[in-house]
Amino acid sequence: MDTLGNRPRLLKEMNRAVVMRTVWNDGPISRTDISRKTGLSVPAILKIVDGLLEDGFLREIGEGESSGGRKPVLLDINPKGAYAVGVELTPERLRGALVSLDFEIVARDGQSIDPESGYEVILEQIVLLIKRIVASSKVDSSMILGAGIAHPGVMGEETGKILLATNLKSWRDVPLGEDLERRLGFPVALEVDARVLALAEMWLGGAQDIKNFLSVDVDYGVGSGLVLDGRLYRGTRGIAGELGHMVTEADGVPCACGKRGCLETVVAYPAIVREVTRSPSPAVVELAGGDSAQIRIEHVLEAAMRNDSVALRSIERSARTLGKALGNLLNCIDVEAVFITSALLRAGERYFLPLREEFGKYFLLPEEKPVRILPSALGEDSEMLGAAILILRELFHTQGRRALQVRGERR
Ligand SMILES: [Zn+2]
Repeated sequence: MDTLGNRPRLLKEMNRAVVMRTVWNDGPISRTDISRKTGLSVPAILKIVDGLLEDGFLREIGEGESSGGRKPVLLDINPKGAYAVGVELTPERLRGALVSLDFEIVARDGQSIDPESGYEVILEQIVLLIKRIVASSKVDSSMILGAGIAHPGVMGEETGKILLATNLKSWRDVPLGEDLERRLGFPVALEVDARVLALAEMWLGGAQDIKNFLSVDVDYGVGSGLVLDGRLYRGTRGIAGELGHMVTEADGVPCACGKRGCLETVVAYPAIVREVTRSPSPAVVELAGGDSAQIRIEHVLEAAMRNDSVALRSIERSARTLGKALGNLLNCIDVEAVFITSALLRAGERYFLPLREEFGKYFLLPEEKPVRILPSALGEDSEMLGAAILILRELFHTQGRRALQVRGERR
């Protein structure tokens, strides 16, 4: 029988992750308190902590209060004990950061990209960006556990590959993970941008104490990350959360996916801009430098802040359509909260009121058990941080141990 007891290495790694997680949640903390919280014996904790101190993932930070007898030494995460690179890839830009074990950004860089330039060019740009960030940080490369990439594509079961990215010159079946690993020499993890935001929300944002939630990302497309029972849900085929391609308009406009009337053809920035451009107000045209062909989402938002009725109407339509889709969806998935990330949040209640109102028409229990629909409080670095968490979480969770192993092998 293949039990944990027959696999001492796996058990050891699991226990190390449990200790790391306990220190992350409750540190600074003494060895005795870790033992009490984890249920592992004091001798076992002493041994695991020694190993984690030796590897530099934990540090001793002085003495705590005594409960009679000797004062206990307190342990905390060593912020300089390990690092990961987090990269945000969008159709417009590339941003990256080196993130320490306490989730602080210690170096960053970025550049604009041309989505039409093709896979090889963008691959090379990502490699060079990561190398520049590592070099400028002056962090020894042996301390870097790997790189996580948040991307706007569709992933399948294979996590090293992007199946399709319609807004990146129709990338199809590109092995970005493998190609980057080969060129960089450390582990690389890919994940869909909306799921990466859900991870950031879970680790650093408003969802730290919420087990079941949905994170929705509205920008040039619409994506979502679903967390069930504290774990990111990827689905059987790896496409869970592709909210943007739920059809909401029966005879709507064509979508890049080949269907018509998908949610993102009404809700995302290009749809809002298209709607405003059809019959623009003088205020929006003026903000776009007098040329209605140059109207962008920033101009629409700025006009909305100045009470421009055309801009406000298009943002409201986006909000209502998303509210309707979420109401329908939550009848199926019944999560506790929804976090929304979007530049549209700038419109404040003018965005949220119609969204919540429409949501209430479709959700079955709007009064008895209201769903919290909240703006994400994470800042504009959240995708890079979430991408780094794709790697760093391996130290705190038991399902992914590759980064730890690679580090061990290098030593
Ligand atoms: Zn579609």
